Amino acid sequence: MSYTDNVIKTLQKQIEQFEKKVQTEEVGAVIEVKDGITLMTGLTSCQSQEMLEFPGGVYGIALNLEEETVGAVILGDYTHIKEGDEVKRTGRIMSTPVGDAMIGRVVNAVGDAIDGKGELNTKEFYPVERVAPGVMTREPVNTPMQTGIKAIDALIPIGRGQRELIIGDRQTGKTAIAIDAILNQKGQDVICVYVAIGQKDSKVARIASKLQEAGAMEYTIIVSAGASEPAPMSFLAPYTGCAIAEYFADKGKDVLIIYDDLTKQAWAYREMSLLLRRPPGREAYPGDVFYLHSRLLERACNLNEKYGGGSITALPIIETQGGDISAYVPTNVISITDGQIFLETDLFNRGIRPALNVGLSVSRVGGSAQTKPMKKVAGSLKLGLAQFRELEAFAQFSSDLDAETKKQIDRGQRMTELLKQPQFSPVPVEEQIISIFAMSEGIFDAVALDQVKAVDEALLQFFRASKSPLLEKIASGDWSDELKADVKASCAEFLKSRS
Ligand code: ATP
Ligand code: MG
Repeated sequence: MSYTDNVIKTLQKQIEQFEKKVQTEEVGAVIEVKDGITLMTGLTSCQSQEMLEFPGGVYGIALNLEEETVGAVILGDYTHIKEGDEVKRTGRIMSTPVGDAMIGRVVNAVGDAIDGKGELNTKEFYPVERVAPGVMTREPVNTPMQTGIKAIDALIPIGRGQRELIIGDRQTGKTAIAIDAILNQKGQDVICVYVAIGQKDSKVARIASKLQEAGAMEYTIIVSAGASEPAPMSFLAPYTGCAIAEYFADKGKDVLIIYDDLTKQAWAYREMSLLLRRPPGREAYPGDVFYLHSRLLERACNLNEKYGGGSITALPIIETQGGDISAYVPTNVISITDGQIFLETDLFNRGIRPALNVGLSVSRVGGSAQTKPMKKVAGSLKLGLAQFRELEAFAQFSSDLDAETKKQIDRGQRMTELLKQPQFSPVPVEEQIISIFAMSEGIFDAVALDQVKAVDEALLQFFRASKSPLLEKIASGDWSDELKADVKASCAEFLKSRS
């Protein structure tokens, strides 16, 4: 071997080793920092969504990978970061701690506890972004996810694994529905994840204490990215919440996750994207704002037995402006989800709460998950209510109505009254069935409008006190002709006892 060959060989060897060493400790330098967004050089093999470590232990996520530079968002306080600072690659794709220890806790968008109850002591990490389960791992929605809200369980039923959008203007009771749905999971062996996005800390604290009071924190995790935190936290929180939900679904659990609300996530993403100089599109949102929500909501699933049988039911919330559901982000999310619960300011102000617009609300898959008795008694309810709304508008202009129309309007008014429900008072499904069945049997026809609620309560009290075997049978999914006749007879008995 010649001298030069030898030198070349030695050099080659050194180069190989040299590369390896650099690989583990790749560092770059900040060349620009503003509004929580940094531009860096020197991170040549950085991956998309990789976590980067800044001085002071602050983390960031690499989002823009360009030829010479990498653009990243900083998660947390960025005020001390300046030009020339060193940035380290971690080699880890953005991930969050997950584990059973999280139940009952409030965490931030990176999965750290923020409730002052100490460290989480979790051992596992899950990537915050994950490809949604494939079609071979899923099975159709077949089990109901009862919300305890009569208008929803009867008219717009939700199944486990479904994605049902809650949409409406400000202050129309969107959060109230989500919280009631969580409260109703008590004793149902369901894990709930409530993701608060861009909300005031005081609001989140109120929700946490409400859930605590009702004993619902025993099965709930709150992920919060506050309004005062930087935009990337609001962008990240839903994915973190979803990763936490996936941990439980992988263990075969049923999970209910609420994203309150995705409008604020879209705003945060728009802000980040503009700062990262990504080209703005419609309404100044970046072109991939659809993908932002679709890749999140696709992760809701109902896994088949072979894959553990777990499920993730997602209730995303979207805020509209002036009831306009045809704006950009609302239409996106409507098209991604399996239906929507549309809440209206007008109804809310008229005291119809939950302020559900029956005509515009749908559930595309939940019907097949409804229990048999509910399916039977609620079948005609939706149509009846929609017809009533039409007639009601029409009847305002004419004084003398024929008997048939009058009867329909009377029934409709009583149905509307029956479906009103205060907050924090979920109704078990078997009791919902009794109320709706009694309505269809005309039990409430002779009752004054303002008495419907009281009579309904008395009827349910009567069933609880002296007909509990019937309630149990209905709860187990029975609705035989015999049982139906028994319930009918009991309703008559109730009427008699009142006269
Ligand atoms: P925001 O747009 O501010 O997030 P939101 O649409 O989430 O509002 P909520 O905060 O759930 O609305 O409710 C608004 C107000 O209406 C609250 O004060 C709540 O207590 C009240 N409310 C909601 N649902 C009902 C109900 N079914 N019965 C009575 N009051 C209700
Ligand atoms: Mg709200």
